[in-house]
Amino acid sequence: MALKIIEDCIACGACEPECPNSAISEGQDIYIIDLGHCTECFGFYATQQCADVCPVESCVQDDEHAETREDLVAKFQDLYPGRALENTDKWNAPVL
Ligand code: SF4
Ligand code: SF4
Repeated sequence: MALKIIEDCIACGACEPECPNSAISEGQDIYIIDLGHCTECFGFYATQQCADVCPVESCVQDDEHAETREDLVAKFQDLYPGRALENTDKWNAPVL
């Protein structure tokens, strides 16, 4: 599933440049994640980069937008046609 940013966000901006999909942007009060571009870092990294850098643990799983591993593969391939997946074997998010 995609990640979301919760209201505890202090708008420090640390997560934005870490996202391989440019899915994070500054919102009105807190930063926001574009569901259509968040692959949970699947295809790039073994861990979710925004969650790794957030100092207040505000990047969390969005339970209302569950996606299977197959969904994430399809999303990655839609975003990057023909591009090889990286680090997918070490990917540590739960596989639904
Ligand atoms: S989990 Fe990865 S792809 Fe999703 S918003 Fe965070 S850094 Fe971007
Ligand atoms: S790193 Fe955390 S606190 Fe900083 S902008 Fe991103 S979600 Fe908000």
